[in-house]
Amino acid sequence: MDFNYRGRFAPSPTGPLHFGSLVAAVGSYLDAKFHHGNWLVRIEDVDLLREAPGAASKILHVLERLGMEWDDAVIYQSQRSEAYHEALNALSKQGLIYPCICSRKEIADSSIIGLSGPIYPGTCLKNQTSIKKAHALRIQTNDDSIQFEDILSGIYSQRLRSDVGDFVLRRGDGIYAYQLAVVVDDAAQNITHVVRGADLLDSTSRQIFLQQLLGYPIPQYMHLPVVTNALGEKLSKQTNAAPVNITNALPQLVDALHFLGQKPPVEILEGDISSFWQWAKQNWCVNLVPH
Ligand code: GLU
Repeated sequence: MDFNYRGRFAPSPTGPLHFGSLVAAVGSYLDAKFHHGNWLVRIEDVDLLREAPGAASKILHVLERLGMEWDDAVIYQSQRSEAYHEALNALSKQGLIYPCICSRKEIADSSIIGLSGPIYPGTCLKNQTSIKKAHALRIQTNDDSIQFEDILSGIYSQRLRSDVGDFVLRRGDGIYAYQLAVVVDDAAQNITHVVRGADLLDSTSRQIFLQQLLGYPIPQYMHLPVVTNALGEKLSKQTNAAPVNITNALPQLVDALHFLGQKPPVEILEGDISSFWQWAKQNWCVNLVPH
């Protein structure tokens, strides 16, 4: 085992695994296996309200049937509130967390649009009175440039204050935000390589900002091309993406490999899942992945 490489696949169980999530699973799995590393699975069910009943176990079942074996136990974000609470406390001790009672509408009305939606105008930072009603918790950002080199897309940089604004780490209903949960869990699972869809490229600077403040190591990032439908929309439950069909898995795995720019021989379709993985693990070539 190469403990210098620990990758992961972190699906949100909002619905069944579809071709878009299959591509992220296959890309992260192959990159880990090509490097003789570990590949972990984490169920990102931090927001149980968005969870489709039974989706998490179905996703794991499909991964198993596709022959994708994970190392270590699967972790569930719904069971990790204590770890998120501790991280939030550590940030709070640095004086960077403040309560916010602004509604979505108030924010939309008084904001300019940044890379990920409205940039919070800092209303509650300026008027810090003692807040009793339910409130979100935001982190104060700054003007430093946060730069990283994505393995596929190259150098990427953001200044959080002007590009994104102060962002939420815990929502008004008490649910921890993805940005906090993902950083705490990537550190807890000793993840060294994050391979995921390019829709999350914009989130990476926020995650690096939190990693720096919490003293966590910063993983390497590789953002894979996103699968879209005929209308150019990202495949998702909202856009009615078709679930992966495990009774006919091989052609879908081969399609995922093609989507990732790999060039398997046509005979790969005549083999089985185990010969598919044997070829794919040995021949994985990052330089062929479109970016
Ligand atoms: N849970 C996210 C999703 O399913 C992925 C998060 C990540 O890989 O960082 O889109």
